[in-house]
Amino acid sequence: MQNKLHILIHRLKDQKDEKIVDKILFEELDIENEKELIFLDPIQIDGKAYLASETLIINLNITFTISMPCIICEKFIKQEIEIKNLYITEELTNIKTYFDMKDEIRNATLVQIPSFVECMKSCPERQNAKKYFKKEAKRNFPFSNLKE
Ligand SMILES: [Zn+2]
Repeated sequence: MQNKLHILIHRLKDQKDEKIVDKILFEELDIENEKELIFLDPIQIDGKAYLASETLIINLNITFTISMPCIICEKFIKQEIEIKNLYITEELTNIKTYFDMKDEIRNATLVQIPSFVECMKSCPERQNAKKYFKKEAKRNFPFSNLKE
């Protein structure tokens, strides 16, 4: 079976765009779940590949979903992440018969993982957390009141 992540160059040689619409499993990108970061399959990729003189150009939208604990209440929540208009380019002289998109998609995906998430953009438990943060702030930053 043909690898979905491989772009075959000979198919692009007659000036044709190749449409890319696929579902990729995280394991196909060698991405593994962590204790506090769950990847929910599959990743959707949607775009095209084409040649511009001696360069392969791949233009993709990537959509995927992760689950991470809310920074405040620690309940796991789902977050959909969209990467719009990712461009991958490679000189044809560097390509034998196909280009493997795996590393590029993997890196683009990992870079977009937020460092934290909060449920519904505003955790219902945030009020309690705010009080707590305020108290902490006063204790740690004795000059924080100077502006007032
Ligand atoms: Zn929460």
